[in-house]
Amino acid sequence: MSDKEVSEQDLLGYLDEMLPVERMSDIEKQLRLSEELRRRAASLAQRRDQGVHSVGEIWRRSRLSCPTREQLGSYLLGALAADHSSYVEFHLQTVGCRVCLANVNDLETAMKEVPETQQRRRRYFESSAGLLPRSET
Ligand SMILES: [Zn+2]
Repeated sequence: MSDKEVSEQDLLGYLDEMLPVERMSDIEKQLRLSEELRRRAASLAQRRDQGVHSVGEIWRRSRLSCPTREQLGSYLLGALAADHSSYVEFHLQTVGCRVCLANVNDLETAMKEVPETQQRRRRYFESSAGLLPRSET
């Protein structure tokens, strides 16, 4: 028997092919050696196919909570600290949280509109400034 414990989390990661390459082949080796492990993997795969388990699901539920909309906004502006920013990036790109991706899209659209509004306001001020009598200096 193997000395390394394979957790349920590991097996799910293996099934979803979301583990580092080394860990993948390590688990593969152990699966080949252990009938009991194969049975565990099979029953996990079955439950996963029923939508009970998936690595993404587990991450969403336990490890990774969604960043707030403010945090997403700061992320887009590059105003988050590096570790926080990489967390958000991981949440969006690796976990692919649909809720947050939708929020980001929304925020991006909103951000694109801001400069236009500002421009319009500036133009307004410029034109009203032009209406003022010019002081001769
Ligand atoms: Zn999220």
